Amino acid sequence: MQTELAEFVKARPEHRELESILRACVHCGFCNATCPTYQLLGDELDGPRGRIYLLKQMLEGGPVSALTQRHLDRCLSCRSCETTCPSGVRYGRLLDLGRVMVESRVRRPWLDRLRRGLMLALFPYASRFDLLLRLGWLLKPVLPRVLRQKLPVRQEQKAWPPADRARKMLAFSGCVQETLRPSIDFAAASVLHVLGISLLRVEATGCCGALNYHMSDHERALALARSNIDACWPHVEQGAEAIVMTASGCGLMVKEYAQLLQHDRHYAKKAQRIAAMTRDIGEILEAEDLSCFYRDRQTRVAFQSPCTLQHGQKLSGCVEAILKKAGYRLTAVTNAHLCCGSAGVYALLQPELAERLRYDKLQALQLGAPDIIATANIGCLNHLQSASATPVKHWIELLQ
Ligand code: SF4
Ligand code: SF4
Repeated sequence: MQTELAEFVKARPEHRELESILRACVHCGFCNATCPTYQLLGDELDGPRGRIYLLKQMLEGGPVSALTQRHLDRCLSCRSCETTCPSGVRYGRLLDLGRVMVESRVRRPWLDRLRRGLMLALFPYASRFDLLLRLGWLLKPVLPRVLRQKLPVRQEQKAWPPADRARKMLAFSGCVQETLRPSIDFAAASVLHVLGISLLRVEATGCCGALNYHMSDHERALALARSNIDACWPHVEQGAEAIVMTASGCGLMVKEYAQLLQHDRHYAKKAQRIAAMTRDIGEILEAEDLSCFYRDRQTRVAFQSPCTLQHGQKLSGCVEAILKKAGYRLTAVTNAHLCCGSAGVYALLQPELAERLRYDKLQALQLGAPDIIATANIGCLNHLQSASATPVKHWIELLQ
């Protein structure tokens, strides 16, 4: 697509990247066919091609308004459009960079600013989120039904296996997952221990920065990335093999540290190394002999592949193959490429669209009457479980 960037964009370090992304788009519209919001709303501006057009208009110095912001806000950042695009357009990157510029030019209503501010002040901080959740559990009997439904079941923390294996890998302590569902990382540590690998939790790590990044708070997101790199670095130098991610959303973010810090002369090289050694737990297991986990199981599992796993990290089929090797029976899932509506805090910011997407996703997952729905991301897990009678688990919990 012919593109002439405005002067204010040319001043940015990412201007060449933006230009090449826009030029790659040939405006064919194939991506609209697999975009969840285009399918729901049927509006060209709520599909990838329309959003690219809005962003191009702004980047060329054209008008930008609250309407532009609304169409961008409705995007899930699911990147289903990237999987479909025959020209390899990196829509997710364009959106993240474009959203920040829209944010600086269109002031949101105060209630929206307050809501977003509260989310950013709460979710990336494990201790604050932990406190809020404890309060929620305490007040559960008097909470409105809609909030009660969203409260996850309380889990006790279990002691991890001893760090006595020769092979060592690292785990982020992260933000919400450890409070919401400590059994996920416990399962990962136990499974890896059986395989001769000690999973070491790096206590000084925290939120990966994805929430801030996708909510246009890039400065804070990059500060979190640098702090995580610093926390992991001594372990990397001591020979840790990999950084293991059990939430596909966080895994995608950490894999993108190299790209996000490419212009940081102090961190660019370290970010490259950290990103290169980051693996989803599925990638670790697919390279190991899993025969010791095989049982002749009768359990039927429907796997929901999170967008961050299949579209972001391009790991389609990896988890399904592992579950089959462990003896599970996988049921068919239609429209597996579509987002469940969780998408970070999307379910809180766009509840109506998120509920419609969740309804469709649960229908698709329950087609084969599974005993369990399995997923690979804590956000999807909670979002689906809050409306599902079928138990929803992280797939690694099924391997213990
Ligand atoms: S993003 Fe890709 S699929 Fe979509 S309009 Fe552009 S070239 Fe076509
Ligand atoms: S990221 Fe997802 S919701 Fe956004 S335009 Fe692409 S397919 Fe549509």
